[in-house]
Amino acid sequence: MHKDNKDDLRKLFVGLDKKVNVEGKGRIIPINFDNAATTPPFKRVMKKILETSEYYGSIERGDGQKSLYCSDLYEESRNYLLKYFNAPEDIYTAIFVANTTDGLNMVSNILINSKDDIVITTRMEHHSNDLPWRGKCNLKYVEVREDGRININDIEELVDKYRERIKYITITGASNVTGYINDIKRIAKLIHKYGGKIIVDGAQLVPHKRVSMCQEDSSENIDFLVFSGHKIYAPFGSGAIIGLKESFNMNPPDSKGGGTVDLVLDDREIWLNTPEKNEAGTPNLFGAVAIMEAMKEVERIGFDTIEKNEKELLKYIIDGLKDLSRVRLYADNENINDRLGILVFTIDGMSYEEVGEKLSEVRGIGVRQGGFCSHPYTRRVLGIADNELQNYISKNGVPGLVRVSLGIYNTKKEANIFLETIEYLCRRYAK
Ligand code: PMP
Repeated sequence: MHKDNKDDLRKLFVGLDKKVNVEGKGRIIPINFDNAATTPPFKRVMKKILETSEYYGSIERGDGQKSLYCSDLYEESRNYLLKYFNAPEDIYTAIFVANTTDGLNMVSNILINSKDDIVITTRMEHHSNDLPWRGKCNLKYVEVREDGRININDIEELVDKYRERIKYITITGASNVTGYINDIKRIAKLIHKYGGKIIVDGAQLVPHKRVSMCQEDSSENIDFLVFSGHKIYAPFGSGAIIGLKESFNMNPPDSKGGGTVDLVLDDREIWLNTPEKNEAGTPNLFGAVAIMEAMKEVERIGFDTIEKNEKELLKYIIDGLKDLSRVRLYADNENINDRLGILVFTIDGMSYEEVGEKLSEVRGIGVRQGGFCSHPYTRRVLGIADNELQNYISKNGVPGLVRVSLGIYNTKKEANIFLETIEYLCRRYAK
């Protein structure tokens, strides 16, 4: 494939040219700038799902040929994930879950043994990597700086203060609000100094960057990684945890039932080893296969192409928005090296809800607006201080922004339409 040919890339997806109704304009091809929320499926994923469905049978539970075929395919998907993430199978396991939220809840339920366990997290997190930890452990939050980046020195201070008492740091690989990519290797090294472990919320990072569990310097390794299939072009209700086998084998499972036990007696049970022990109930074969196929496609396209395209488009849109006097951009838009293709803005004289609704109504452009399931971070990005928050909420409601998030297939043509539409909104609707 020619590296920069967006038309070729677009052909790899289902539904990108499917028209929608836009009042007054008739049926037009919409623009999806909401890839951080969810992504359209790859054709390759859909093809494999259809092929597999002809052989569908019970997974890990039967001796029929179709059952054996599906069980093998399920395990093939698991092994593929381990290889993809450079996670040797004697150290790591791959557990299929419903999505990142499900995976992080599972990890927090299994790993925390005492309310006194110190866990570090940050004010950059999505609610799914904040709420599951609250109330279960002694949670320490690392602040973000004025530009929205994590303050790594704060992590270092906490590590040096609490040393062996720190069990985990749980941190996002990249922010769903600003797209900042965290320096996971450096943070892993810090946390490993006194034996703590690192959990990475990979929901945003995995679709846009190659992630490796193991590094040349093993103190930089990731211990647990969680991500969702639907954000990497595989929308079949699946996600995965790649994590240390020993930790899952040592602890009882979170969800219990069929498929998790070797033997059940009237008054006790003997658990299977991970991953079976941690996958209660009939597995989601299509979800697992979808992730494998999507990752194969992403590998084939190559992260060089993905990152280059998304970064160029990010810069193009940022530059375009900077020319519009009513548009306010947030986060660091000068040095964008450590950012995914995500940007947030507001328009003076319009609410964030209005901007999102009008983009859709006027030109079929899909963005996300609001607090992005990251209320503590969003209000920090907006610069609302602790003591102003209550007043702000009573006047304006939940602090929010408008977000553009790019995918592999978005084009400069779409960016131009978006910029023209924003310019029109500023003229027509901003008060
Ligand atoms: N973490 C981050 C950083 C996210 O962006 C999201 C989804 N917006 C999640 C976790 C939760 O993902 P899911 O809804 O697939 O569980």
